[in-house]
Order: sequence, then structure tokens, then C-alpha cells
Amino acid sequence: MNSGIALAKRRPYKTPVPDASQMTASQATDLLRRSLANGRLGHAYLFVGSTIESLESHATELARTLNCQSPPATGETGIPLEPCSDCIACHKVDSGNFPDLDFVRPEKKSRIISIDQIRNLTRKVSLKPTEGRYKVAIITGADRMLGPTFNAFLKTLEEPPERTVFILLTVHPDRLGETVRSRCMRVNFGGEADVQLEASDAAWLKSFVGMSAETGEGLMGRYRLLGKLMEHLAAKRDTIEETQEAASALNRYADIEPTLREKLKEELKASIEAEYRRQRGQFLTGLQWWLRDIWLAALRQGRELLHFQDWADTSETVGQRLSPEQALENLQSIEATQRLLETTNVQEALALEVGLLKLKL
Ligand SMILES: [Zn+2]
Repeated sequence: MNSGIALAKRRPYKTPVPDASQMTASQATDLLRRSLANGRLGHAYLFVGSTIESLESHATELARTLNCQSPPATGETGIPLEPCSDCIACHKVDSGNFPDLDFVRPEKKSRIISIDQIRNLTRKVSLKPTEGRYKVAIITGADRMLGPTFNAFLKTLEEPPERTVFILLTVHPDRLGETVRSRCMRVNFGGEADVQLEASDAAWLKSFVGMSAETGEGLMGRYRLLGKLMEHLAAKRDTIEETQEAASALNRYADIEPTLREKLKEELKASIEAEYRRQRGQFLTGLQWWLRDIWLAALRQGRELLHFQDWADTSETVGQRLSPEQALENLQSIEATQRLLETTNVQEALALEVGLLKLKL
């Protein structure tokens, strides 16, 4: 299946252009239902769509489904697939009186989700469900958390209490930190798909994934992977240099006076560097999303919700030989590497070597 959850087609940066690969709301609902039918319930979902109201109704529907007392259909492991709309639990969810369903919404005045709200939520979800099968926490406008709040919430997401399902809702997935996005299973209800890989990056990542599945944990193997990564980045830089140099005024006019020539040279250099950093960032985000697939596979989550559907087999092979803790460390390690590269002038080769050699694959 190729959908909004699979690799998004490349298109101009951040321009909301309709995209054939996006799912409609009913396709998203089908996908969710199929993964429940296979006995796979995620601990955290990210629902993306065009209005918060529609996302809240999809999330409430999932809460109702999971806690319905006489579901008309159930999946392999007894997970309900749809609600009856008639039982006490269904009615309580509808009227907002179900004790195991919590909503967190941005505060009216500040329009942010406060740290107290998150602390409150963390305390509530640490308790067992009182009436339902699952505790469901719906976080509306999940992009409205500031740093410390975000960190507190991230901790809860990474150490999910049993029988708790988080559903994060956002119409601005790009404003949500990559860290939170990558911890959740994303379902697009007609929203924008936002992990974009260029064709050459996608091809490279695919062969990297295949290699890592065969190579395993040996140090030699990881040095081979590192070598391959450095080659790919070097080729990327070469292409950017060639393109930008060809377009530069430096090559179009022979008689530029020396001061201006120097200035243009400096500008060209800076522009190449900026473009390279942008492309490298995008590419590493792709790598991060693959490591997130590995983490989901290590958690034995549904393969329907893996981001890179084309490589789901390989991702499962790698993920299932790791513990969830090891797989999470991988994800954290690539994130730390990215932060280091973005915020400091650390030597690239060194940062990547440290980051990549830590990976357990
Ligand atoms: Zn019901």
C-alpha cells in the first residue's frame, strides 16, 4: 500500500500542494482498523489532518472503539474494531463523562499546553483504567508545548504506562518536534505528508537498509556503513557545488573587478554550505525515520504503520533482533548527531562516526 504514511513524493519545500499519495479520511480509518484487526494497538498515535475538530472526532471514535462494552466486531486478540454506540461506555464517551478518557487542550489565554497539564496527565495515566479497557489521552494541538513541557511529555511517551493509548492531534505536524513525531504512529486524515526524501536519498537509504540487515552488529560492518554514508554525502556536496558554481556570476563574466570577485566567491561558498546543510538535514531526517521504524518493529508494533512501507520486511528483520531499549537508543543517537551538526561547527566526519558507530543494527 502506498499512502501518506509511505514515502511522500518530493515536492517544493513546505508548499501545501495536494498530493496523490495522501490518504483520505476513510483510507486512514481503514488502515487503523486493519492494524487493530491484526492485534496491533500502538501506544501513541499522531493524527494529522486539516481541522482540529475533525481530528478530535476521529480520536474520540478510537477511544469509543477501544472501550466499547459490546463491540460488533473484534480483531485477532480481542481488540474491538468498531463501537456499538449503544452501551454505557459508548454513551459516556460521547457525553464527555468517561473516566478513562482525558483531553488535554491548549489553555484558552496562553494558547499553550502547560507543564501542569502534562504533569496532571502523566499522573492520571499512571493509574489503571477504572471502567474501560484502555486509558485514552487525547492531546489536542500537540504542537503547542514549550521546551520543558515537551520534555516532560516526551518522557511519558517513551515510557508508556500499560493499557494507555496517547492520541496526539495536530494540523501543523511541521511545528511538532521530530522527536515527538518519531515516537508516534502517524495517521494522516487528509493532512500534509511531510517527510520528503529526494530520489537519490531514497535509493541510497534503501541499499543502506538492505546492507544493515545483512551486516549485523560487527564493528567492521558499521565502518562499511559509515564509509557508504560519507560517500553519499560527498557526492551530494559535489552536485551542489557544480550546480551553484555553474549558475554563479563568477563564471558568466570574465572581467569582474577583484573586490567584487572576492565578495561573490564568499557568497557562493556560504550559499553552497547552506544548501548542503539543508539537504544533509533532510537526508538525516530520512535516516531517523527509518530508525524509528526499527524501534516500532522492536516494540512489535504493526507494520502497517511503519513509515517506509517498501522496506517493511527488512525493518522488521533488524528491529526484531533488538530490544526496544536498544532501538530507542539508536533513535536518540541519530537525533543527538543531528543536533550536533545543526547547532555547532563540529567536524562532520567525526560527528557521524561517533553517531553511526553507536548504532546497533
Ligand atoms: Zn459500545
